[in-house]
Amino acid sequence: MPTKSRVQKPLRRPKQSSKHSVSLARGQKQRFQQRLLKWYKQHGRDLPWRKTSDPYHILVSEVMLQQTQVDRVIPKYHEFLERYPSFEELAGAPVAEVKQTWYPLGYNIRPERLHSIACETVVRYGGKLPSDPDELLSFKGIGRYTAGAIRSFAFNEDAPILDTNVIRVLHRVFIATGDPKAQKAALWELSEALIPRGKGYDFNQAIMDFGATVCAARDPYCLLCPMKTFCKTFPFKGPK
Ligand code: SF4
Repeated sequence: MPTKSRVQKPLRRPKQSSKHSVSLARGQKQRFQQRLLKWYKQHGRDLPWRKTSDPYHILVSEVMLQQTQVDRVIPKYHEFLERYPSFEELAGAPVAEVKQTWYPLGYNIRPERLHSIACETVVRYGGKLPSDPDELLSFKGIGRYTAGAIRSFAFNEDAPILDTNVIRVLHRVFIATGDPKAQKAALWELSEALIPRGKGYDFNQAIMDFGATVCAARDPYCLLCPMKTFCKTFPFKGPK
C-alpha cells in the first residue's frame, strides 16, 4: 500500500519537441497530484506485488498484467513465483515447462520473453536486474512502460509510466481532444512532469488504480471524481 520514499536519481527528460508539450494551468499540477494521492490513500487496491520491491517479482507481475486482468493474474503470480522463486530458477527451467506453468494466461510470447530476460539477467548481470533505463531497455521484452514500472516499483525512482489506464486518465484530464494514440509523446511528457518529487512509486500506482476503477474506459464515475472541477472531459459523454 501507499508509501516508500528515498533519495532520487536525477530524472532523464525524454527528448521531445516543444510542439508536443501540454501546458498546465496554474495550480493544476499540484491539484492533480494532491487529489490523486489522497484518493489512493483511501481507495488504493491491496495487491500482492505492492508488498515487495524485489525486481524479479515486479517484473513477473508487470509481464503478467500486460494482457490480463488483475484478478486472473493474482493466483498465477503466486504459483509462478513458488515454482520459479528467482531469475536463476526461471533461467534454468525449460521454456516449454515455463509456458505450461503460465497456462492459461495466454499470449505465450510473454513467458518466452520472461524466460529470455531471466537468462540475460543471470548471464549479463549476475542475476540482478539493473535499474539503469538504457540497460533495461536493451532487454528484448522490456519496453518503455515496463522499464518505467521496474524503476519506479522496484527501485523507487521517479520514472514515468504510460499504460492504457494512464493514457486514458491523462488525456481526459489534461487534453480531451484528438486521438490519444497519436499523442503518446505529449502523454509521456505529462506522465513525467506530473510525478511529485520522491513520490513516483505511490503516484504511479495511484494513477493506474484511478484509471482502472474511477476513470474507467466506459462509464467513468465523473460525478464522484476528485478531478471533476478541472478535468477537461468532465462530464464524460462517451466516445466521440
Ligand atoms: S471527471 Fe470523469 S473523465 Fe474526468 S478524470 Fe474524473 S472520471 Fe475521468
